[in-house]
Amino acid sequence: MTKYISIFSLKYLAMFKGINAIEFGKRFYDNESCYWYLIEQKWGKGFSCSRCGHTKHYKGKTYYYRKCRKCGYSESVTANTVFHAMKMPMLKAFHMIFRLTAKKKGMSTTELGSEVGVQQKTAWLFKRKVQVAMKQDNNDKLKGNVDADEPLIGGYTNKNKGRSLQSKEALLLATEKLPDGRTGNIRIQPIENFEALTLKYALKDMIDDKANITTDHYRSYQNLKKKMNIQTVLSKMGQSLEELHKQIMQFKNWLRGIHHKCSPQHLFAYADEYVFRFNRRNNRKIIFHKVLDKMMNQIPHPYPILKILYYYST
Ligand SMILES: [Zn+2]
Repeated sequence: MTKYISIFSLKYLAMFKGINAIEFGKRFYDNESCYWYLIEQKWGKGFSCSRCGHTKHYKGKTYYYRKCRKCGYSESVTANTVFHAMKMPMLKAFHMIFRLTAKKKGMSTTELGSEVGVQQKTAWLFKRKVQVAMKQDNNDKLKGNVDADEPLIGGYTNKNKGRSLQSKEALLLATEKLPDGRTGNIRIQPIENFEALTLKYALKDMIDDKANITTDHYRSYQNLKKKMNIQTVLSKMGQSLEELHKQIMQFKNWLRGIHHKCSPQHLFAYADEYVFRFNRRNNRKIIFHKVLDKMMNQIPHPYPILKILYYYST
């Protein structure tokens, strides 16, 4: 009997690694199995009261509560996480995170809503939370040889060719160039304009100070060359930075395919989502766990703000 219990609890304790829907369904089949996973994430290494820091607890009012022995604070497993006060069943939330992380390209909220059985609006609001969890850590800067360019997104009209920003959004996209020519990690960030100062801060945000940056022959970079490790090459219709331009096309195609409508204020979130998935393309099995872990350590999102964003995006 003891042996059985230990095997049984091990099944709960182990990190879920996988992109297979059947395996996912075996592991997470009701709300309780999801809550146990969160309990392990939060208190697996020991309890610590979020009010007073005391490490001993009583049983809580349900299996996913703990009550502090010192101050008596009763805390749910979802307190201080994005899952707090969520009306949707936890199993549906898990299914959405799984679909957004396990699928190579993610999923639109219309598809997501119909697959999991929630309204598109609910799916949209929840996906925003997942995208925040996918935000790149600042210390994950690109290193070595890095190529950078500033593509425009949306508003494809013949009138505004060149670098005009009317009805278009600008991005700064940078890729690591590995010694064998392949692409390493990437970073993408929306930028407000092409001024030297804007480019400088965006580059510094995404790229390590010691990296060698290559970009095309754009005016703003001439000024930056004096202060940063940048070399410029003539663009020759995109040939000089071939791998980089391939990545730009892929990002644009993804944006068009998955997010038919992408309002400018959400471009940050979409870029974060794309980069997170791309940089983990060789380690996709742990993305679900990583995102869930981040969501457990995030301050809950103010729901009214998300709702306002939603109305503006449609
Ligand atoms: Zn306490």
